[in-house]
Amino acid sequence: MYIQTEGDQTHQARREMQDVTHRSLGFLHRENINRIKASNSFFPFMSTAQIRAAVTQFAESVEDTSKRAPCASCGRLLSITDIHAVGKSNCSLRLLGGEVDHCGRQGNTWNLCSKCLTSLPQNSMPNFSAKNLVNVTVCLHYPSILEDLTPVEE
Ligand SMILES: [Zn+2]
Repeated sequence: MYIQTEGDQTHQARREMQDVTHRSLGFLHRENINRIKASNSFFPFMSTAQIRAAVTQFAESVEDTSKRAPCASCGRLLSITDIHAVGKSNCSLRLLGGEVDHCGRQGNTWNLCSKCLTSLPQNSMPNFSAKNLVNVTVCLHYPSILEDLTPVEE
């Protein structure tokens, strides 16, 4: 029977430490090679024409978004060509009883989508409407103490 001496235990501990160090260095080496490969393949070449097309597409997208307005009744965000401007005395607006989204106001007129403009006079309340207390826009009126909320806090 062999009895381990203190020197044997020290030698064994040293070998285990070298083994762990060797494996760690191998792991770091492989990670470094993978990082270099990823860095070399990142951001593929884009031609000037592709960059120009992407910038144009982005500008058009921003412009399209800026040409939208919310319906004062249902809060849907629509192209301004699909919005109907109605005055305060319009029967559709009166049916809402003042429960309108103020983001849908343009000076003295209010924006209504075609659906709300036709369904309100028939006493058919849109499911998503300020009158039904289901406003889908983010344009809500908060108490003054909550006016400084960030979108995340909302
Ligand atoms: Zn609507």
